[in-house]
Amino acid sequence: MTIKNGMVVTLAYTLTDAEGDVIDKADAADPFVYMHGAHQIVPGLESQLEGLKVGAKKKVTVGASEGYGEVDPELQMHVKRTQFPAEMELEVGMQFEASGADGTDVLFTVLELVGDQVKIDGNHPLAGEILHFDVEVVSVREATAEEEQHGHAHGPDGHHHH
Ligand code: ZN
Repeated sequence: MTIKNGMVVTLAYTLTDAEGDVIDKADAADPFVYMHGAHQIVPGLESQLEGLKVGAKKKVTVGASEGYGEVDPELQMHVKRTQFPAEMELEVGMQFEASGADGTDVLFTVLELVGDQVKIDGNHPLAGEILHFDVEVVSVREATAEEEQHGHAHGPDGHHHH
């Protein structure tokens, strides 16, 4: 079985940033499962996994534009402290969801607190980062009928609820 569109793929991986710090990882005991070609992983990784077989190991470097995107300065903005609930304790680095310009929920990160101003950032926390994936293909299988219908994977055995 090789990785191609519509297949359900189980991966073990370590994701590190340009400084070598581990950002995220999934191991054999708690692997990551996705449907190939369904845009559930960053495009630069998905394209590099195409055609790999079970047991394959690969190091993949993904630039920001093929990863979580470049940093968009327009998504970094100042808002008034009073726009947050008074009881909410704000601190740098905290994240919260709010409606973005197009009405969908966007994850914002608090960058700075200055006086009654709060600088927030709606970019993905990994925007602008070069991503280094160290990947091992644990398994590859056909999608179940239900997964095909839903357009996503239902866990390693295809029966996970979600
Ligand atoms: Zn589903």
